[in-house]
Amino acid sequence: MQFNPRYVLLNPKLFHHQLPKPLKSAKAGHFNEALAHQLQWSDQDKAQWVEICSGQKTFTEFEPLAMVYAGHQFGQWAGQLGDGRGLLIAQILDQNHQTIDLHLKGAGATPYSRMGDGRAVLRSVIREYLAGHALNALGVPSSNAVGFTSSEQGVQREKLELGAMMLRTSDCHIRLGHFEWINQYQPELLPEFVDKCIEWHYPDCLKAEQSVLAFATQVIQRTAVMIAKWQLVGFAHGVMNTDNLNITGSTLDFGPYGFMERFRPNWINNHSDYQGRYTYQQQPSIGHWNVWNWLNNLIPLKKDSAEKEQFKADLAQCLEHFETTFLEHYTLGLCQKMGLPSIHKDSFNCGMAFLQILQTEQLDYTGSFLRLQNKEYEAIKDDCLDRRQFESFLTQYQAIREHQEIAELDQEMQLANPQYILRNHMLQIAIERAERNDFSEVDRLFKLLSQPYLKQSDLERVEDLKPLPSDVAEIMVSCSS
Ligand code: AMP
Ligand code: MG
Repeated sequence: MQFNPRYVLLNPKLFHHQLPKPLKSAKAGHFNEALAHQLQWSDQDKAQWVEICSGQKTFTEFEPLAMVYAGHQFGQWAGQLGDGRGLLIAQILDQNHQTIDLHLKGAGATPYSRMGDGRAVLRSVIREYLAGHALNALGVPSSNAVGFTSSEQGVQREKLELGAMMLRTSDCHIRLGHFEWINQYQPELLPEFVDKCIEWHYPDCLKAEQSVLAFATQVIQRTAVMIAKWQLVGFAHGVMNTDNLNITGSTLDFGPYGFMERFRPNWINNHSDYQGRYTYQQQPSIGHWNVWNWLNNLIPLKKDSAEKEQFKADLAQCLEHFETTFLEHYTLGLCQKMGLPSIHKDSFNCGMAFLQILQTEQLDYTGSFLRLQNKEYEAIKDDCLDRRQFESFLTQYQAIREHQEIAELDQEMQLANPQYILRNHMLQIAIERAERNDFSEVDRLFKLLSQPYLKQSDLERVEDLKPLPSDVAEIMVSCSS
């Protein structure tokens, strides 16, 4: 590994040095060898992956630390939070010379644990491990993980579960909530912190006349692109609190997430979200709220009152980029999924008409796009109660495609419509087996989801391709993890 320890260059008030507390009898769960390779792990590092991913081995080049941050949780100011059960154990360079954080989740209590035990359970570790892998392979910016380990140590949740640790990778663990903590508790740290964020994550902005405004715009745009990509693959994050969104627009801290099956935009995938704040359809507006809230934390950078007024107006201008960026990416992506030309004036509406059918007929999101791609129009119609609604959609759809380069549009569809997503019932089987010390199903899903756009008949099972029957009770997923 090539180390690049840089978080420690920040003011020490922003973190606390602490070593991981290993769990009893740690054992191998799963290892992402390809990712370790990208991260330039040596053969010796790879041979020691279980020790590294269980907190038994740390590095002299980097003193592990817990970060402090704050946040708004479910729309309410939550005060000080921080890494309550995760530690930054290294910052290393990948093959492209990009700095990547290695964050060990479940590594024991820290000063920021509040009432928590500092641990993660095997169930939630597998959920995050496989989803990070799936999102990356789908082309959605996201954290990933080099590996996870299980243990024999019990961890109390609603019931007693097995403790586990996961070595998460991300290009950035600086959250919107970092800025909220600084403003609330140590405002004098803000200018230097912003400078470091720009230097580390948005160095191009240093060339701009007003680097902070360029930085703000890029954070907003990247967040909007990430959420557009979530919507397109049907991903619902589940806990879009300001402490769970980072400044590089890569998906982070998704515990009670869900991949959309039957198309229900107001589906509450996280059962701790009593008001449905973070449903699939709310994600763009919540993203907007989060970055608006974040921008307010930049205002104190200007002290002089006239300057401050101008700066507020400039920041408001930056915020305008959210909606335009989101719509641009979402529209383009939806047209690709539909096999429609994005320049045609009716394409977007036609895409919306298709989604309306999926919603009223409660059809599977991923599976229906695949059927459209495979021109299985009769099969979709057969699943519709309102067949006329589908027929009128199909007439419009075929009319738009009539004078187009169909081969090109069809090819775009194949690149935009995954064959496989991570359905909750697939995860459930993998988790139940892993809890009995059998990680073969985790491995099968890992392989299948490595190439989600490619049909893999030898690896797939019929259950991977469709939702459970609608009379089977939904698997409950909550914040408990
Ligand atoms: P989350 O909703 O998982 O992003 O967590 C919100 C906050 O609670 C973060 O500051 C976490 O570090 C902290 N937290 C969550 N679970 C635990 C736990 N088991 N022990 C200590 N802190 C935790
Ligand atoms: Mg979190």
